[in-house]
Amino acid sequence: MTDSPLDVAIVGAGFGGLAMARALANRPGLRFAILEKAAEAGGTWRDNRYPGAACDVPSHLYSLSDAANPGWTRLFPPQPEIQAYLRALAAPFAERGQLIHGWKLAEARWDADAARWRLRATDGREASARFLVLALGGLHVPAWPDIEGHENFAGPSWHTARWPVDADLAGRRVGVVGTGASAVQLVPALAGRASALHVFQRTPGWLLPRPDFALPGWLRRAFARLPPLRLALRGSIFLWLELVSSGLLHPRLAFWARWLSRRHLRRQVADPALRAALTPDYPIGCKRVLISSDYYPALQAPGVQLETTAIARIERDGVRLADGRHVALDALVYATGFRPMAILDEVEVIGREGRRLRDDWADRPTAHFGISVPGYPNLGFLLGPNTALGHNSVLTMIESQVRHLCALIDAASATGARSVEATPEARQAFVDGIDRRFGSTAWGGGCRSWYLDARGRNIALWVGGVLGYRRRVRRVRPGDYRFER
Ligand code: NAP
Repeated sequence: MTDSPLDVAIVGAGFGGLAMARALANRPGLRFAILEKAAEAGGTWRDNRYPGAACDVPSHLYSLSDAANPGWTRLFPPQPEIQAYLRALAAPFAERGQLIHGWKLAEARWDADAARWRLRATDGREASARFLVLALGGLHVPAWPDIEGHENFAGPSWHTARWPVDADLAGRRVGVVGTGASAVQLVPALAGRASALHVFQRTPGWLLPRPDFALPGWLRRAFARLPPLRLALRGSIFLWLELVSSGLLHPRLAFWARWLSRRHLRRQVADPALRAALTPDYPIGCKRVLISSDYYPALQAPGVQLETTAIARIERDGVRLADGRHVALDALVYATGFRPMAILDEVEVIGREGRRLRDDWADRPTAHFGISVPGYPNLGFLLGPNTALGHNSVLTMIESQVRHLCALIDAASATGARSVEATPEARQAFVDGIDRRFGSTAWGGGCRSWYLDARGRNIALWVGGVLGYRRRVRRVRPGDYRFER
């Protein structure tokens, strides 16, 4: 497929790349391909297969709007079920030869004479495309903690997003570093399995109950026979989560979430010292709010220990804490999150006049609507800078971006334009708007989170509701873009 020139090359076969491919498949005659580095589609849901991995957005919203799955077995979908859903989405493209596995992008170079992107894979294969869509994933490069001595640890250790297929932690003394969204799912799954489990917490998270339950067979059959019923559920979840965003945008409105979280802690943790250790001292929503009904009970299970003293260093046979205590460990798991927007670590993107996106983004990654970057024609990002969410399904953002990109491709084709890219002014106005709103939100509440760069600037989050973003990207405003004819 990549032997002949493409109209559109999509890089990445996760939710973003597959959503884009589904939209392009409706355009007869358009030649496109998905280039995927791994042997399997799925992106983040292929990579994050640690025990207990699941989505904390309900399944009927955490799916593409044009690819309903009435058969979700639970309100919150477990990772294997999401991965199976993604595999099913990918299958038709693989069958038609439009999904190419093992194609890892090393360099994308804009060829101004031909008005095409020249693509080179790490193994030297080449392809070219008029439009390039980078669906590389918002959170996909693991963040390893800068703890002294980690290379000295003699036992097995790995990151939650690199869980070995044959990992066997039964009967072993395990340490988990980090207490974010991944850890609160992993810890309950390991609690009964490891002989001793030490959870190293640096900052406690705000935690809300997770009202998960199995969706009964009769309801699944009803969803299959009556699509409006499923749509009503999807719409209600979406609107509820949009409402939640008002508390994040206006922290005073988040009193109910604070109350709910404190009540959850009081109900599940009786020991005052443990309760105090688990009580956050920053505004709710500042870090991603955690959702779990079995994390607090797991921390109190036999053999489980919450360590709140800082880790001084990692040693051959365990961890040395700042107070001098030594915690003996057989295995160490890093639930330490991701480096957002680190997607250019391994990919070189070269735009007009040889400019490199890595250099242009060295200070701060920015794109108009998180999609288009001035100087990089016919290039589109999915879940690019400032389009992650702290409150709703990111798939709703991806779908808005896919529609916007399709509109750009259609507009360029209809006008006979060789290329299209955002103007610097449009991008600046987008970023200024985000920065203006950020300071007064819960996310800007002064805590440390993956939303922020080293200088405390928000590089990851869209600041607003999904409906607001959708309204802004619904149409391509000609003034926002430069079409080269
Ligand atoms: P995370 O939220 O960034 O949490 C990382 C954890 O590691 C934090 O507790 C952090 O402590 C700790 N940490 C980092 N460096 C450390 C160090 N040097 N020493 C001690 N502790 C250290 O990462 P995550 O849990 O993988 O989640 C990342 C994001 O992925 C989530 O916010 C969410 O958007 C997404 N996610 C979603 C789901 C889902 O259900 N949909 C599930 C998992 C993840 P500090 O807080 O002190 O920095």
